[in-house]
Amino acid sequence: MRCPFCSCMDTRVIDSRLVGEGDQIRRRRECTDCTERFTSYESAELNYPRIVKSDGRREQFTQTKLRSGIMRALEKRPVEMDQVELAVSHIEHKLRALGDREVKARKVGDWVMEELRALDQVAYVRFASVYHSFEDVRAFLEEIERLEHELPPELKESQLDLLPGESDEKTE
Ligand SMILES: [Zn+2]
Repeated sequence: MRCPFCSCMDTRVIDSRLVGEGDQIRRRRECTDCTERFTSYESAELNYPRIVKSDGRREQFTQTKLRSGIMRALEKRPVEMDQVELAVSHIEHKLRALGDREVKARKVGDWVMEELRALDQVAYVRFASVYHSFEDVRAFLEEIERLEHELPPELKESQLDLLPGESDEKTE
């Protein structure tokens, strides 16, 4: 599991124990690189529909994967972990509420985009650019332009520091 402090891929489990009714495992982990410690929880996710990828492959929904997708988009953005967890639980709730056995990955992606859009516009564009794999730079820029029009001016300052090298460099 990736270290949440330094992003090193190599962490080792130093303790694991059952928690609650025994349907969850709590693991204490230590990063082999920066030696920071953190806790992870593992539980069965049988209540969730299978995720149907665009090529037809099915895969099990995992909270970890969902969270890491969201986190990747939010890297270095001023968004608190509590808000990330809230976004994750919104999406999990939607998945369970579906009551279906399967759900298209695309739909989950749309939900992630909705959450990110409310949280942080830069993260939203990052995610959208990967997820929609914008075919050319123009489509990407159009999306950013659209966002700029939608954003209230006071948010533009704090959120839209995109493409610093390519935007019109305003020298005062
Ligand atoms: Zn580390």
